[in-house]
Amino acid sequence: MKDIIIIGGGPAGLTAAIYAGRSGKSVLLFEGKSFGGQISKSHKVENYPGFEEISGFEFSMKLKNQAELFGAEIIQKKVKDVKEKDGIFTVTSDTDYESKAVIFALGTEPKRSGIPDEDTLVGRGLSYCATCDGNFFRGRTVAVIGGGNTAVQDALYLSDICKKVYLVHRRDAFRAEKSLVKKAEEKENIEFVLDSLLISAEASPIIKSITVENKITGERSELPVNGLFMAIGQTPLTADFADILPLDSYGYVAVQENCTVKNGVYVCGDCRAKDIRQLTTATADGTVAATKAIEYIDG
Ligand SMILES: Cc1cc2nc3c(=O)[nH]c(=O)nc-3n(C[C@H](O)[C@H](O)[C@H](O)COP(=O)(O)OP(=O)(O)OC[C@H]3O[C@@H](n4cnc5c(N)ncnc54)[C@H](O)[C@@H]3O)c2cc1C
Repeated sequence: MKDIIIIGGGPAGLTAAIYAGRSGKSVLLFEGKSFGGQISKSHKVENYPGFEEISGFEFSMKLKNQAELFGAEIIQKKVKDVKEKDGIFTVTSDTDYESKAVIFALGTEPKRSGIPDEDTLVGRGLSYCATCDGNFFRGRTVAVIGGGNTAVQDALYLSDICKKVYLVHRRDAFRAEKSLVKKAEEKENIEFVLDSLLISAEASPIIKSITVENKITGERSELPVNGLFMAIGQTPLTADFADILPLDSYGYVAVQENCTVKNGVYVCGDCRAKDIRQLTTATADGTVAATKAIEYIDG
């Protein structure tokens, strides 16, 4: 039996592992995909205090190494289920594991756009991660879909590699930070396509163009692109745990800043309902969740 099982090896979960391990608790952490979560795919991090600039991958590895340094046992497998009986939690992955407390640090994954054949276009020009796949489109023309920080950051990143970037957004103004939008406006090879919806992507076998529809005029136009980058938001990875976690209408876990669902059950990071989802807020949550779990176990 472990003291604490952590589900999710992104910044929130790994921070919780560092705190719990350092306080002498036995910790088992599960990660279903890549250590570091979303940030492992980021080209560059410039806003985490203490690092002027670090790659997302290096940041992720540093977190994982630090968690292991403090004794966390790490298993790279997805958790399928969590059950509680008499204050003991059974966490099911390849087999069952028991603990006194569970920390959910599930994070989010990119939303799908819903265009025809979306799944089959992945790997044929469609990507959900500009920093992972942008280099495949060096010197070519691409489109980024979305209007938030990720979309504008992706467009900026791609504009340094690609010949031209269309930034397609369904509204006439961006939700992204003004400073980012200004930088994008200053780039000669970024063209804004506003008030426009993505209708389809034409591929044979790789993407050759996309069709967008202007919401105001109804006019459809074909943009010649080889790469299509989706940056239209995130879905929390909470669905498998709806019986143990209180979810809001978007699927985020509805808990306050104490990260506590009830004794023994804690939630941290981007999967929690909150305003700002960043590395600093994820690691802050990981700190709180671990500290609350430690307090509970210590009575
Ligand atoms: C491209 C990109 C660039 C970004 N750049 C920045 C930046 O520069 N600065 C900044 O502050 N923020 C940035 N962010 C946001 C930042 O990455 C997130 O806020 C942060 O990663 C959230 O951490 P998290 O641990 O809550 O969730 P995540 O990073 O999403 O990690 C959750 C982890 O849990 C795992 N998991 C989920 N369910 C299970 C399960 N059932 N079993 C096992 N494992 C599971 C997932 O595989 C995932 O690895 C960026 C995000 C993206 C996508």
